[in-house]
Amino acid sequence: MQTTSNSLQSKIEKKLISIVSWSFSLMTLAVLIIAVLSLYIYLVSKLEHAQELVMTKVSTEVSGTLRDINALAGSPLLWVALTDASAREVYLEPLLQKINQSAMHKIELLDDRGRPVIDSDAVDMNAPQVQQLITHAVQTKQSKYVIETMQDGQSLLFKTLAVNPPFVDTPLGFLLVSFDLNKLINTIGLPKGTTVELETRNNLSVSPKQDVWIQQTKANFLVSGQDQTLALHITVRHSALNALLVITFCFVLMLLVVALLIYSLKKWSLGFARTTTARLNPLFERARKKTERKLRELSYKDQLTGMPNYRAFVDHISPLLAHPDKDFSCALIFVDLDNLKMINDKYGHEEGDLVITKLSEHLTQSLPADTFICRRSGDEFIALIHNIQQLPNLVRKLRQLAHTFTLDAGISEPRLIHTSFSAGAAIYPDDAQELNGLLTAADMALRVAKEAGRAQFVWYSKNIQARAQRLNTIHEKLTHALEKGLIVPHYQPCVELATGRIVGFEALARWTDAELGIMSPGEFIAIAEQTHLINLVTVAILNKVMADKPFIHAHFNGAAIAVNISPHFFVKQEITTFFANHLERDVDCLDGIVLELTESEFLQNPQSIQLHLQLQTLIGMGLKLAIDDFGKGYSSLSRLGSLPFRKLKIDRDFVRDIEDHTNQKIVKSIIALGVSLSLEIIAEGVETALQREALIHNGCHLGQGYLFSKALPLVDILKLDHILEPRTQD
Ligand code: C2E
Ligand code: CA
Ligand code: CA
Repeated sequence: MQTTSNSLQSKIEKKLISIVSWSFSLMTLAVLIIAVLSLYIYLVSKLEHAQELVMTKVSTEVSGTLRDINALAGSPLLWVALTDASAREVYLEPLLQKINQSAMHKIELLDDRGRPVIDSDAVDMNAPQVQQLITHAVQTKQSKYVIETMQDGQSLLFKTLAVNPPFVDTPLGFLLVSFDLNKLINTIGLPKGTTVELETRNNLSVSPKQDVWIQQTKANFLVSGQDQTLALHITVRHSALNALLVITFCFVLMLLVVALLIYSLKKWSLGFARTTTARLNPLFERARKKTERKLRELSYKDQLTGMPNYRAFVDHISPLLAHPDKDFSCALIFVDLDNLKMINDKYGHEEGDLVITKLSEHLTQSLPADTFICRRSGDEFIALIHNIQQLPNLVRKLRQLAHTFTLDAGISEPRLIHTSFSAGAAIYPDDAQELNGLLTAADMALRVAKEAGRAQFVWYSKNIQARAQRLNTIHEKLTHALEKGLIVPHYQPCVELATGRIVGFEALARWTDAELGIMSPGEFIAIAEQTHLINLVTVAILNKVMADKPFIHAHFNGAAIAVNISPHFFVKQEITTFFANHLERDVDCLDGIVLELTESEFLQNPQSIQLHLQLQTLIGMGLKLAIDDFGKGYSSLSRLGSLPFRKLKIDRDFVRDIEDHTNQKIVKSIIALGVSLSLEIIAEGVETALQREALIHNGCHLGQGYLFSKALPLVDILKLDHILEPRTQD
């Protein structure tokens, strides 16, 4: 639980920190992007505005001045002054002085050979750029303009203008105007860090590579110069370095704040997670306990009856037996319904379940309140009686109940079902001192109760123990005998009762053990069935019969050879696989083979499609089927009539007492029914001439028994005559 809450706490903590860290980081990034973008937009608009201002200022100043100068060049006053030195002093000098008072522009008057007419020093005439310009004007007589950067860094716009009166062919002189662009621009008052570069368009310089933080805009514009239009190019630059530095500073500051926030949030989330989990912990604890309780209930409870299950029983009894009190004793009773399979087949599983539930209720009501009862599996219950003083009374009650157990197990309407149960019981510490021994003892007692005809209550005893020991010995020896091939068939002839003519044989398993002597199949077949060795026995006998068959047929042509087949051989289709394999090797190998099936529980369900399919497959392979021990089981002939049997064997018990009036009636009706179903009827255990007569008299014409012969080994039956004389009785 501690770990759960710890992990929950750290989960909440981590989640909170990651949410806030992410949101803060994203916010910081967004702020940074927005700041850079807005700065960029602001600077660009500022730059464009500055450029606009410079262009307007330069245009108005230059074109205005040039208009005035142009007017001056067209003035006769100037023409006179150029030709007449006296006039020059009187008019021109003061005029030029006045004009040159402007800080923005200066004018120099040149004669036709380019020499200054008035020594004014307004323009630096020695500068090479100026010299070049004047030379050009004198030679071409044309106007020209240039922008030059002087040695002192001044940026000047020069413009020459020919003074060309209409009455002369060549200019009288020239006017040289210079505009101080730096001063001009300075008057605008541009923001700090803004630089402006003006160039003539025909003389554009290649701009040097700029740093990334330098922003610039460029534009072309025209300035009217009266005689000539000036094509100019402007570049305005501004460094965003400062702004970037400010932003970086702010960003770092913000990062610091965010780091501080995340740090304090971490502390806060720790506290928050702690208080939250502290509040959730009791809720979790409650939910966990509830789930555990539910799980325990489920794993200890039988779902059908609501009773404790076997696991709960083991948990209950183990500590009692592990550390028993000095006088501790108890009784363990195994209870098992006798005919649940039949109930399931007859009424369906739902009613079968109801029968089990009713049995559990009956047991709970009949046994003392402190009895621990559990459902072990299917229809098997275990009751643990603590107070064995009450046992005699209790057992009497259980014995009664075991017999006359009637319950209402109708799902939709009342239906009374008569059933019974068997019980086996053992006592601690008399019969066993530990749980497994006690369980085995009670189980053995239950098995004895079942074998003794069901509906009984049997106490575990030394006899039962001896029986169990013998069972174990036989089981071990049988395994060994099967490996060594010691289980072999003997053949009992089946004859025509009237004539004694042999018509067939029944193969009966025989086993002689060096220690135990001659073993009766009545005993070892039952053990083989309980211990799952029966199919090995069946296969051993069948293989031997198949090997013996050619010898028997050589002597008794067409004789039927019957083999007893246990229902276990039908499980997992073993029987069909077995015969199919034999058929593959020899197509005639199954001729004359008869399979004897007892009226066991699996024949109780003639509707079973599985069973039908298997029986039909066997018949298809050429085998014949006989019902063995008829009359002993529960089934009626009419029920079995739906199954594909060809032969019917009347049980020995009926034949033995055939003189008895009631038995005679039964045998008679069996024979009559068999005949009506076209079955071949064989009587078993014919021992006396009287029995033979009675059988023939009642319509049974075939039989086997000691009157003719017991089962003999192969060598002996091959010595037999075809007709057997009935033995004379002692
Ligand atoms: P079952 O199939 O009813 O076989 C007839 C039994 O009656 C045989 O006993 C036979 O020896 C005995 N018997 C024959 N004639 C007389 C008679 O006139 N008087 C008396 N009192 N008994 C007679 P067995 O051989 O001891 O076999 C007992 C049972 O063991 C068989 O009863 C059969 O159910 C089973 N069994 C025998 N061999 C096999 C086998 O190979 N496989 C299987 N699954 N069961 C077998
Ligand atoms: Ca038989
Ligand atoms: Ca039989």
